[in-house]
Amino acid sequence: MNQKINQKIGILGGGQLGKMLCQAGSRLGLNLHVMEKDESFPAWDVCANFVKGDITAYDDVLEFGKNMDIITIEIENVNVEALEALEKMGKKVYPSPSALNIIRDKGKQKIFYEGMGFPTSEFTVYKSKEAIRNDIDAGVLAFPFVQKLRTEGYDGRGVQVVRASSDPLFESESIVESLVDINKEIAVIVARNPSGQCVTYPVVEMNFHPEANLVEYLFSPSSLSAQDQRIAAELAVSVADELGVVGLLAVELFVDNQGRILVNEVAPRPHNSGHHTIEACYVSQFEMHLRALLDLPLVGTEQVLPAVMINLLGEPDYSGPVIYTNIETCLEIPGVSIHLYGKKTTKPFRKMGHVTVVDTSLDKAITTALKVKELLKVTA
Ligand code: ADP
Repeated sequence: MNQKINQKIGILGGGQLGKMLCQAGSRLGLNLHVMEKDESFPAWDVCANFVKGDITAYDDVLEFGKNMDIITIEIENVNVEALEALEKMGKKVYPSPSALNIIRDKGKQKIFYEGMGFPTSEFTVYKSKEAIRNDIDAGVLAFPFVQKLRTEGYDGRGVQVVRASSDPLFESESIVESLVDINKEIAVIVARNPSGQCVTYPVVEMNFHPEANLVEYLFSPSSLSAQDQRIAAELAVSVADELGVVGLLAVELFVDNQGRILVNEVAPRPHNSGHHTIEACYVSQFEMHLRALLDLPLVGTEQVLPAVMINLLGEPDYSGPVIYTNIETCLEIPGVSIHLYGKKTTKPFRKMGHVTVVDTSLDKAITTALKVKELLKVTA
């Protein structure tokens, strides 16, 4: 019997990322366990082993982790103190609590990049909005700039561009970054195993929804030159190495109008920018994450077909029990794969699912994806 593959993996969180981890793990017959607060969560129908608990509560995470060989996450907002205790007990905690502590805090993340000499936008850490106002008044800080909450933000919430003194500021501890003259937003997903093997998926390029600040669609291969793709991949691998991450590290980067490639932020888990890998690559990001945790060979990041991914977001004006429009029409289109996360209710811009379109050419895939985007609506 292969010992590696039989290890008990505990996943903190059963959202859509947990769901797709379970789907990938099931194919390899892996021993996966999911902890979530109650029974209504996306991974519910696919997780073989469910443990009820609060992933932000010390006792719950400790109790859950004690029974596992490996503990991983699908969301950063977990109880890190419990993960530290589990690591001390000899459990394999991936990503490590020390990496997670840096990544969860945008201030620590930026200080880490600066300390390591990784290219990133200029920034200052602030304790309060008064401190920011003081610097504006003293002429130390000029408009425009980007303010980001250090800890509470996600999916573009907790990030704002500040252009004038009349613009409101976030209250809590934050970082202020110079506004990057962005040409392209890209991401590189890295997988790293405990043996130190490290691989990357091809660069993906993103378009953002102007209002929601969520990825509107992404495509791969990206339009970057081969050389820039190599630079981005090498940078992403260096960040993963320095953080010592085991599992996936999704590295979001900006290419600015001067051609500089800057690290924006990272996530130590499967990522929205890797959903297309399920259909488009030999091995999906979800299986690759599990392979990395188990110290199995990291092979198969090659992309087989051009791909476009769109998030299915709740329409702005609807809240309540979800209704999907035109599912059947979209299912008739070859190359279209619809993923619905099984969330019972929709809210404005809530991530309810995603659609991947693969085709023999990227142009064809984009045309189809835009058609699907027009057709497939999430309302209540
Ligand atoms: P989140 O963790 O909420 O996704 P990000 O740091 O990725 O936050 O920021 C969300 C979006 O805001 C980015 O994708 C980008 O479009 C924009 N943004 C973030 N930082 C900057 C910056 N320094 N300059 C210009 N735009 C930025």
